[in-house]
Amino acid sequence: MARTDDDSWDITESVGATALGVAMARAAESASDKPLFDDPCAQLFIDAATAAGWSSPFAGGAAGSAQTQRMRMVWAYAAARTKWFDEFFASTSADGIRQVVILAAGLDARAWRLPWPDGTVVFEIDQPKVLAFKEETLAAHDIQPVARHVGVPIDLRQDWPEALRRSGFDPAQPTAWLAEGLLPYLPAEAQDLLFDRIHELSAPGSRVAVEGFGANYFSEENQRIRKARMDAIREEAAKAGQQVTDVAELFYPEPREDVAEWLTRHGWQAGVETSAEVTARYKPEVAGEVPDIGSEFVDAKLS
Ligand code: SAM
Repeated sequence: MARTDDDSWDITESVGATALGVAMARAAESASDKPLFDDPCAQLFIDAATAAGWSSPFAGGAAGSAQTQRMRMVWAYAAARTKWFDEFFASTSADGIRQVVILAAGLDARAWRLPWPDGTVVFEIDQPKVLAFKEETLAAHDIQPVARHVGVPIDLRQDWPEALRRSGFDPAQPTAWLAEGLLPYLPAEAQDLLFDRIHELSAPGSRVAVEGFGANYFSEENQRIRKARMDAIREEAAKAGQQVTDVAELFYPEPREDVAEWLTRHGWQAGVETSAEVTARYKPEVAGEVPDIGSEFVDAKLS
């Protein structure tokens, strides 16, 4: 599981499998009694990966176990997060923005499931095998995108702005950018470079929505607390003969600049909501019951 500067992955491997983890959460939310959104593609991705031999390293656990409790929290968080980013795009569409870039798109199906205004183009960047799995699965079910969809298969540590331009991206147009479930998988330096590039490619009126991890998220103390929590879950699962994978092992646990501060320093007007606030708004039934993720949701605009 160790990360390297030029590692790559298929959908069932390493960081790629985290996209399947998010799809599991979206499929569960879509099948629930009062779903926050409907993502019919999510279950198709899980089914296709399962048919190819994948079994989730994140799920499992007896009823009432610490692992089951943790999954409930992670899925509720992922559902609330998905809703928050859906609303961001409703707002950018209402603002008249018709150019969208989803960074580390994974199995995000927004280009296929949101009501995009005519003329919207959605660029999606992720590793080549991840985007290939997604596009092949949707094509096998003859599911067409609502917006014009352009896949840009490249690693975000490489020269993705050049690849984006070659795919038809127009830096003179305002853009709505999204980075959801991405930043901990990038080294701190790559995160700074990512925002430098977003800034350079953003015309006035552009907006960016980010799931950020504040300066303290990777403090030694917070890492120690999260590891202790995870060790307890693993110990309990091991007694039941189960192995639990922790996505934090794929993170670059390096302190990094707070996203809202970075954006503000570069002239963006940034609003921030904490993960506790977002979870309380969309999933009040679990908020307070489970440990907070400690992330923040940043919505920023360049005038
Ligand atoms: N944003 C998507 C969503 O919310 O459904 C996917 C989130 S998933 C937790 C993380 C995604 O980040 C994976 O699809 C992975 O391939 C992608 N990713 C991580 N590091 C990347 C990199 N350096 N270049 C391209 N994609 C990357």
